[in-house]
Amino acid sequence: MINMNQKYEAVIGLEVHAQLLTDTKIFCGCSTNFNSAPNTNVCPVCLGHPGVLPVMNKKVIEYTVLMGLATECIINSRSVFARKNYFYPDLPKGYQISQYEEPICEHGKIFVDKKDGTRKEIGITRIHMEEDAGKSIHDQGDYTLIDVNRCGTPLMEIVSEPDMRSAEEAYLYLTKIKQIVTYLGICDGNMEEGSLRCDANISVRLTGEKKFGTKTEVKNMNSFRNVERAIEYEIERQIDILEEGGKIVQQTLLWNADKNMVMPMRSKEEAHDYRYFPDPDLMPVIVDDEWKNEIANRLPELPETRKNRFVEMYSLPLYDAEILTSSRGLADYYESVLNETNDYKSASNWVMTDVLKIVNDEKIPVREFPVSPENLGKLIGLINNKTISGKIAKDIFPEMIKSNADPAGIVKEKNLVQISDSGEIENVIEKILGANNKQVEEFLSGKDKVLGFFVGQIMKEMKGKANPGIVNELLMKKLNGLKDNAGG
Ligand code: ADP
Ligand code: ZN
Ligand code: MG
Repeated sequence: MINMNQKYEAVIGLEVHAQLLTDTKIFCGCSTNFNSAPNTNVCPVCLGHPGVLPVMNKKVIEYTVLMGLATECIINSRSVFARKNYFYPDLPKGYQISQYEEPICEHGKIFVDKKDGTRKEIGITRIHMEEDAGKSIHDQGDYTLIDVNRCGTPLMEIVSEPDMRSAEEAYLYLTKIKQIVTYLGICDGNMEEGSLRCDANISVRLTGEKKFGTKTEVKNMNSFRNVERAIEYEIERQIDILEEGGKIVQQTLLWNADKNMVMPMRSKEEAHDYRYFPDPDLMPVIVDDEWKNEIANRLPELPETRKNRFVEMYSLPLYDAEILTSSRGLADYYESVLNETNDYKSASNWVMTDVLKIVNDEKIPVREFPVSPENLGKLIGLINNKTISGKIAKDIFPEMIKSNADPAGIVKEKNLVQISDSGEIENVIEKILGANNKQVEEFLSGKDKVLGFFVGQIMKEMKGKANPGIVNELLMKKLNGLKDNAGG
């Protein structure tokens, strides 16, 4: 059987809309608050009443330029807003203000690191600013409700080159976009809540073919997982059609996550003839070098740079650095732990496993993780200065999650200080060996395996508080002594 995934090659380009984290809308002073009652954050401007004039929100320009700089775009010193005309009930103006022929950012790129270890460059065609439309709510009865609060919410649209060749690459690209916008603090990156939205343009062609095939556009994917699944599905669907001798119809499709398939959008909804023209009410946007440089000075350390610095500065494996810098919050948390301890690798292990597991399970932002980085740092300090064993530290950690109490306080209160007193440990060793003659015989006859059994018993007897290094050392001394005696 021919492997269809080798006979054909997929071509994918993504259009990503990111909702910008400004307090007010793009052309008026209305609030962008997500939780307000429907139709309360509105004014004549965003309702599109006749005769009103839009006023550009400076922050929207600055945020978009930040994104352009972070993705190595050219920042056009002059860009222009255009009206994209279409009728839709949740767009009272009858047109959307967007950028068309002269966008603010062009010709950028980002890099993604693939599972197979290769790195791939994906081009960014353009990034432009536009306003959002309102929201139609269809699931409340036999009618449709309209909430126009979202009209005029600022969006940044990032259009990629058709450079991706698999669902994996698209997934990684989108993940990278999220990582960058959240590092920049210009979008919360939440796909489930619609602050980050993605439309996927997909075509397939015979491997080796230079010309692109006819593309379809898949919309309505509201999670990273769904983007990956929808693209995989659509690639398969197109290959099946071509294999049966059919032709791909250029159309817009909606991903149906429940049915795990795409459905065609009603053709009336996608009859596009937008009659773009420059918006006569808005001046061209001028970003001179001085302003551009001022914005560039505000660029934070980006994920890629931070990852490399973590490797250099803290001698971490690339794997650790990659995970720790996956979000700005996690990287900040890690570096705050280091205010309390210089044990970079232990700190990394704790953050990557113990912290991240709960953050992921509970789906909370890292800044809401109940154990402060200071207290985690102190806990690591207590292990390293031998006050407690690593085992006790793992036992204390859930306590800390409940209360964020100072670990030293918990150790004191529960009397968990590690026992390193050889006399005390020796006594317990004697007792355990005395009570387990059979296992002692086994050891003497060469079965080293029982060592683990002895350590376990001793630790149990000492409630996990014995210093494991000293236990091992004294136990070996004692057992070897017995061996010598038995032999001699
Ligand atoms: P349209 O005019 O249909 O909006 P554009 O040329 O503006 O198409 O491209 C929209 C998106 O589709 C871009 O992300 C682009 O990279 C991607 N794209 C263009 N042609 C193809 C193709 N043949 N297959 C897959 N993606 C494509
Ligand atoms: Zn308004
Ligand atoms: Mg287009």
